[in-house]
Amino acid sequence: MTKFEALGLEKPLLDAVADMGFETPSEVQEKAIPILLESETDLVALAQTGTGKTAAFGFPLIQKLDSNSRTTQGLILSPTRELCLQITNEMQAYSKYIKGLNTVAIYGGASITEQARQIKRGAQIVVATPGRMKDMIGRGLVDITKIDYCILDEADEMLNMGFYEDIKDILSNTPKGKSTWLFSATMPKEVSKIAKKFMDNPVEITVGAKNAGTSTVDHEFYVVGGRDRYPALKRLADANPDIFSVVFCRTKRDTQRVAEKLIEDGYNAGALHGDLSQNQRDLVMNSFRKKQIQMLVATDVAARGIDVDDITHVINYQLPDEIEIYTHRSGRTGRAGKSGISMVIVTRSEMRKIKSIEKIIQQNFTQKTIPTGIEICETQLYHLANRIKETKVNKDVENYLPAINEVLEGIDREELIKKIVSVEFTRFSNYYNKTKDLNTGDSRESGRSRTTDNSRGGSDSSNNTGSVRYFINVGEKDGYDWMTLKDFLRDTLSLGQDDVYKVDAKESFSFFNTEAEHTDQILKFFTDFKLNGRFINVEISENPGGGGGGGYRGKKGKGNRRDKFNDGGGNSSDRSGRGKSRERKGSKAKSGNSGKRRSKQSRSDFF
Ligand code: ADP
Ligand code: MG
Repeated sequence: MTKFEALGLEKPLLDAVADMGFETPSEVQEKAIPILLESETDLVALAQTGTGKTAAFGFPLIQKLDSNSRTTQGLILSPTRELCLQITNEMQAYSKYIKGLNTVAIYGGASITEQARQIKRGAQIVVATPGRMKDMIGRGLVDITKIDYCILDEADEMLNMGFYEDIKDILSNTPKGKSTWLFSATMPKEVSKIAKKFMDNPVEITVGAKNAGTSTVDHEFYVVGGRDRYPALKRLADANPDIFSVVFCRTKRDTQRVAEKLIEDGYNAGALHGDLSQNQRDLVMNSFRKKQIQMLVATDVAARGIDVDDITHVINYQLPDEIEIYTHRSGRTGRAGKSGISMVIVTRSEMRKIKSIEKIIQQNFTQKTIPTGIEICETQLYHLANRIKETKVNKDVENYLPAINEVLEGIDREELIKKIVSVEFTRFSNYYNKTKDLNTGDSRESGRSRTTDNSRGGSDSSNNTGSVRYFINVGEKDGYDWMTLKDFLRDTLSLGQDDVYKVDAKESFSFFNTEAEHTDQILKFFTDFKLNGRFINVEISENPGGGGGGGYRGKKGKGNRRDKFNDGGGNSSDRSGRGKSRERKGSKAKSGNSGKRRSKQSRSDFF
């Protein structure tokens, strides 16, 4: 008996659950499903975003409906069009083995006649946004007078958006005897008011803040000057070549502007906000789901509740006016037990907000520094080398080989590799060559002691002296995130709790720091170290990391290249060869679409 079977689900649903790859019910599912299946009751369920609330109401709803009757029996209200479509898709996936069960979505901005036609064909479940629902009831296009179940999803957000009156009107068209299930991430006064007014002695379920969905998110903040937000955003993207992210802005206008700038600068970006037509929003969401868009720039309202798999980063381009909203933003990543990073770009005057947010999320932020140009170049270089290694040879290339060979004749392998890598690398290094350090300097008061030790070294250069940065050829694809990699290094090297810091895990390689005193031991240890049959390489990275000054320049010291770079002076042309010994390193890089990035190269920094 599977765990879902034990909750009381029957075969058609169990088969669908298996298809979706769900193995264990989440806490809210475990608590809600048996109650909803066994009894006819009202219910209030509070659980953070990403904890699987949709299935918590979706499974019991589907199982309890009569698929032989075409009457509308279940109504799900949700705040936004995107969410409405997402829930509809989920319901369709859950009910795929139940013949005759139809779920129809009703939302503004799309053809009302088409939606009415679908309803007319018979929809046991209707998923709707309040505005369009009211409209359709008014025109007699939908009949909800016989529903047995009404679900208010993301109730707090619906009320935030001013849907109270609409919800009240809609509910007045539903029968008294129905059951009402309210799902919400938070329980502000308005939500309890709804619960009191429209619900009869509801069962209450609360799922603690410590759930798989949210505890897997790391929170980071970056302090920059007010005019450096946009260049900082670009650097964060450049330092994470496989980024798949939602970038939150405060207003529709900023959302549009940031998205346009990113597109102009050659990133795969798109905007999502309420001023776009429904059609435009659908297109953007589709491209995002297909990962054709790597950076979705969105307003809070438009992105609320959106569940797209594997979002790696949430970037708060600006903090929301109401800090409570931060939870909803960061909840877009780290879903379904995966890890994610929520980054906040702040100015010094906004730093106090970070403290307030820490109280709300009951997690500490780590202060990080915006990567320097040279760090980015290095990351991009490894990334490119990995991509070349992993690229499948296109057999059509064969036809052109004779001609290509002719052009490239006389260039040996070493030289050729340097040249290939330089094609991309020079572009980055030329750009970053001319840019300054974006960090505003001092870290927050007592910040270091409060943040995790991963942030050690912060932006304060004096603390960085004697610190050595290393490259290691294992990364996220080997199952390491910064925490597990740090543990691994500490254990393997028998180092103390705080000896390994600034661990930065990328897709197929990582960086970390130690004090110089450990360097010899580390390099020696890793000259001949195998993990699962693979050689693990550790090398000193010439980039001292963290935006601070003065790194270790022992063994490989080749002068003060980094400083030249930051001053905008120096000659970058030889830099492409720096990673020479590393192209053989690293292994699989995600063969994502990062290759499509940056078709254009306009690189002005506007914001
Ligand atoms: P919420 O509404 O609480 O924000 P969702 O219902 O959107 O969360 O679910 C978040 C993600 O978790 C979805 O991608 C969903 O498919 C996935 N998920 C839900 N339940 C499970 C489960 N039991 N096992 C694995 N993944 C799940
Ligand atoms: Mg939800």
